[in-house]
This record gives sequence, structure tokens and C-alpha cells, in this order.
Amino acid sequence: MYLFDLHCDTVTRLHDGERLAPGDRSLRQNGAHLALGRMACYDWCQCFAIFMPDEYRGEAAVDYFESCYRFFTGQLAENADLAAQAFTAADIREIISGGRCAALLTVEGGSALAGDLGRIARLRECGVRVLTLTWNGKNELGSGMACDEGLTPLGREALPLLEEAGIVVDVSHLSDSGFWEVQKRARRPFIATHSDSRAVCGHGRNLTDDQFRAVAAAGGVVGLNFSTHFLAADDPDPSYAALSAHLGHFLALGGEDAVALGSDYDGTDVPSWLEPAERIGGLYGRVKAEYGEKLAHKLFFQNAMAFFERYDARGEPPCGM
Ligand SMILES: [Zn+2]
Repeated sequence: MYLFDLHCDTVTRLHDGERLAPGDRSLRQNGAHLALGRMACYDWCQCFAIFMPDEYRGEAAVDYFESCYRFFTGQLAENADLAAQAFTAADIREIISGGRCAALLTVEGGSALAGDLGRIARLRECGVRVLTLTWNGKNELGSGMACDEGLTPLGREALPLLEEAGIVVDVSHLSDSGFWEVQKRARRPFIATHSDSRAVCGHGRNLTDDQFRAVAAAGGVVGLNFSTHFLAADDPDPSYAALSAHLGHFLALGGEDAVALGSDYDGTDVPSWLEPAERIGGLYGRVKAEYGEKLAHKLFFQNAMAFFERYDARGEPPCGM
């Protein structure tokens, strides 16, 4: 089974050691949701986010990013038989065909730039391919869903520079006004790495129908988030039917080529039947049974893969389409 997951927080969780024993923090085998050794049965690409907590700003944010980056590259070096960092779409294909996990580095929180757009070059040098502009709070680039102030002047300036550097803009967590500013100003496709449907579950982290259509129309993809909090309002352990309701809604909006996965493993609570991450194969079986194999493959791999291939080839449809 081919798998392309647009978001997990495993690197940050292992780096920080949150709720883990000291000997339990290897990317290979651990007490976290996701481990390379347990996922080796899949042909897969995993986006590993460096999650930037809102309490780090300025130099503290830079130090935190660099520390997580060292952890990420160190873990990949120790586990070179199981994974390798991918810098391009072509790398992803090649690493997967060699039987290893293609690890794509992403950053969740524009605070990693510490207000200095010159640091975009540093992120690019590290192989960062996606930047989630904000987390829930406000940072130098804009406001997350906790308030609704949109992008800052620096955030507006950052957009074309990120696009030029080949760093995909991610609108998950962004405030609604920030979302629409990105939509108006973007010249390249943008994505929502880990967000569900607000029409199905009315959480501010989820996308409205208009937002979903806007991401798709710009040539982007939306990763379905497994978070129990975003799948269902009043159910601590949502069933497959709850997840399928989000998928079905996105498909009804015409999203067959825009739906992808953004599990949020190690960043949130996920349904018991999806934990730990290797149980994701069970979800593939359910989706295949309900929607057919073609759609299951698009959701699990093809749409996200095709997105990065289009992005790298600059063959995306013009913005505003
Ligand atoms: Zn997140």
C-alpha cells in the first residue's frame, strides 16, 4: 500500500520527549504514534513537521528549530536503512522505489523565521518543503485561529519569497482572514496539510466549503486530519463513519483530486482504531470498500504525490482559476 502523509509531529514529540521514557525516543522504535520500524510494511512518504510552540519567538525560536533539525537529520542518519530525506518530488519516487520511507521536512509555525525573511534561505537549505504560516496564536507572519487579524506586512512580503524558494505555503491553523489573504495573493498553489471539514464538525481548525474549494481551485491539496477534536464535536473516539463523513463531504464539493491525508500523529489525540500509525492500513481497507480502489489510492498517495510533482515542475494551473 502506498501512503503519503502530509503532517505528523513525531520529530518534535521525540525531540522534546513528551510523555516518553528516555530510551523510547528513537524514530526507529518508540512509544509514540509513529515509528519507522513499524511502518516499514508500507511504500510511503512522510512529512515530518518541526512544530514551533507559540512560546518561542525570536532567537529562542531559531534555536528550537535548529535543535529539532539536528535531531531529525541525526535520526535519519541512524536509520538510513529505513528512511532518507527527500528534497524533491523525484527524490520521493526514488526513495520509495528503493524500499525506504521518503522523509519530507516541513515546519509548523512561521516563527521559525524569527521575523527575518533572510532565514527562508536557511529553511530551504535544510530541505524544508512546506511552511505552515502560523500555529494557533499570532506570530511575525500572521494570526492563527485564536484571533482573526490576518497576515502581517511581513507575512505578505514572505509569501512570494516562499513561493520562489519552492517552500509550499500551508494554511492549516491560519485565521480565516489570513486564509483569504493567502488565497488572493498566492501565485502558486497552496495547501492545508491537516484540516477537516467545518460543515461536518464546526471547529475553527477545519475548512469551510468555500475554503476547501479555494485550495482545490488553486491546485492545492487538503490533508484529512485524524484528530478526534476535529473529526467530531462530542465523541472522544470517533468511528470510521465520522472520518468518512469528512471525506464524503469534500468529495461532494468536487474534491476527488484534492483530498489527501494529514494524520497529525503525535500532535493530537487520534481514534483508538487508528493508533498507533501502522494501523492506517485498516483505514485504507475501509476507504477502498466504500469508495473504490482508485479513490483510496488518490487519497492515500496519488493526489499529494501529484501535487509535489506539479509544484516542482511549475506546471500548476494559474492562480485564480
Ligand atoms: Zn497542527
